[in-house]
Amino acid sequence: MSALFERVALIGLGLIGSSIAHAVRRGGLAHEIVGYARSPETRKTAARLGFLDRVTDTAADAVEGADLVILCIPVGVIGAVTEQIAPSLAPGAILSDVGSVKSSVIAQALPHMPDYAELIPAHPIAGTEQSGPESGFAELFDNRWCILTPLPTNKPESVAKLRRFWEGLGSQVDTMDAAHHDQVLAVTSHIPHLIAYSIVGTASDLETVTESEVVKYSASGFRDFTRIAASDPTMWRDVFLHNKEATLEVLGRVTEDLFALQRAIRWGDGDALFERFSETRAIRRGIVEAGQDTASPNFGRGKPPTE
Ligand code: NAP
Repeated sequence: MSALFERVALIGLGLIGSSIAHAVRRGGLAHEIVGYARSPETRKTAARLGFLDRVTDTAADAVEGADLVILCIPVGVIGAVTEQIAPSLAPGAILSDVGSVKSSVIAQALPHMPDYAELIPAHPIAGTEQSGPESGFAELFDNRWCILTPLPTNKPESVAKLRRFWEGLGSQVDTMDAAHHDQVLAVTSHIPHLIAYSIVGTASDLETVTESEVVKYSASGFRDFTRIAASDPTMWRDVFLHNKEATLEVLGRVTEDLFALQRAIRWGDGDALFERFSETRAIRRGIVEAGQDTASPNFGRGKPPTE
């Protein structure tokens, strides 16, 4: 693919920022990739790894002259960083982001936007439990979805260009409004993470089970929750603080469903349990058929679990 942008600036050089840099280079999507992160350590690591053409000492310097700027930072600092870089945005620049929550990003960033640049929020549905500049890789977005939540004021050609950019990174692209995005992601990502954080914490708190048993027998289910529960605490704290309404709404539904299962167990209602477990098995099959996970047993880990 020929270069879509003259200069792409990445603010935040962790898992997502560094993966974008690798994939931009792989796809030849920009003539120059410039980056900035808050700490000198991260900037030094990024320079050593060489996935950028240039590392700058300030966010404003990175943004200058860029026709695409992507904020790859925790959702909680979007407002402050946008305020900081807004005066340096080039005329006609697209400012985008990768935040896991969209309504809050818009509410934080839009008031700082100059009228000669456009805010077009985005969220790649791709990630791992790793963070930092060394965790990125070019294939992260391949065959994963990226959701754009354009604003009514966006120019169709700008949205189309950002769509082509994400396709160039390897993604399939959907568009929807920010409020809908936040509801969908509460169900598919935010609440599953909350449940993982909760169950892993509960298991370690249970006094009847020793810590060594929790680790020793983890392959019977617990281990798969621990992968999710190892996700970055700053990122996930911000997700819940900034998608409060949707996550509380879904959590209410999950709590009701858990009570229904509790009741079925108490009353020996095997039919209710069997029916629910059959439905969920079909959902797993659907995910594999959609190419969003491997059909190999035990996520392709090779060795089967101990039960
Ligand atoms: P990460 O690996 O922890 O990287 C975050 C980066 O942001 C770091 O380089 C950090 O700099 C920088 N940063 C933090 N505060 C900053 C500030 N005030 N100014 C400038 N840079 C700042 O996190 P990540 O996983 O890439 O996540 C970044 C964003 O992607 C989050 O909004 C998250 O919601 C979204 N997202 C994550 C995933 C995932 O699975 N991880 C998936 C999709 C979307 P230092 O290194 O110097 O601290």
